[in-house]
Amino acid sequence: MSNKFLKIKAVNETFRVNNIFCIGKNYLMHIKEFGGKEPEKNPVIFTKPNSAIISDGEEVVIPEYNGRKISGELHYETELVVAIGKELTGDNISDCIKGYAVGFDMTLRDVQDEAKQKGLPWTTAKGFRTSAPVSDIVLKHEIINPDNINFMGFVNGELKQSVNTSEMIISINEILKYIDSIFSLQSGDLIFTGTPAGVGKVKSGDLLEASLVNLVQLKVRVS
Ligand code: MG
Repeated sequence: MSNKFLKIKAVNETFRVNNIFCIGKNYLMHIKEFGGKEPEKNPVIFTKPNSAIISDGEEVVIPEYNGRKISGELHYETELVVAIGKELTGDNISDCIKGYAVGFDMTLRDVQDEAKQKGLPWTTAKGFRTSAPVSDIVLKHEIINPDNINFMGFVNGELKQSVNTSEMIISINEILKYIDSIFSLQSGDLIFTGTPAGVGKVKSGDLLEASLVNLVQLKVRVS
């Protein structure tokens, strides 16, 4: 069982992280910035182990193997994160949502590019330890319409990503239905819903900040 916990904003309760699912290619402008044209027919899904989770104030660290860093190209991707509070029982998929957070899908882009070229999995590029910084969770009743909210990502105080979730290609409900039909959503699961355009490289010492509307902020530094 995971020993990774997130705080829930404004209540004395914690959220134990179970599985982490991530959606790729969910904003058209991001697909285009990587030279793609069309969205995929079904959601592109990958996972991160829950050892990837870090919280506000912690550090992102590129892992080393045999004394060498395994990547020279660390990228941020700012994303809306959905937190699952219980298994789905009825037909209303949103019943299983506990709340929302903002997170960074940290990516070793050179490792991912090599994996893409060779047709190999992205797990190392996307799932390394500290690759999933996530803010405190905002309970769902604080957000009137999650399909129409803004989130932003900053590097060293400079705005790099800003989007409204209405620009998602596949909506939150459709993402959850798809994941539940294939993997089963469970209490403690987190879903990263994809990055908008504006991703980029960060280096040691850089400060990454994200905000979800004006409800919650996340700050992590690159080691
Ligand atoms: Mg992503």
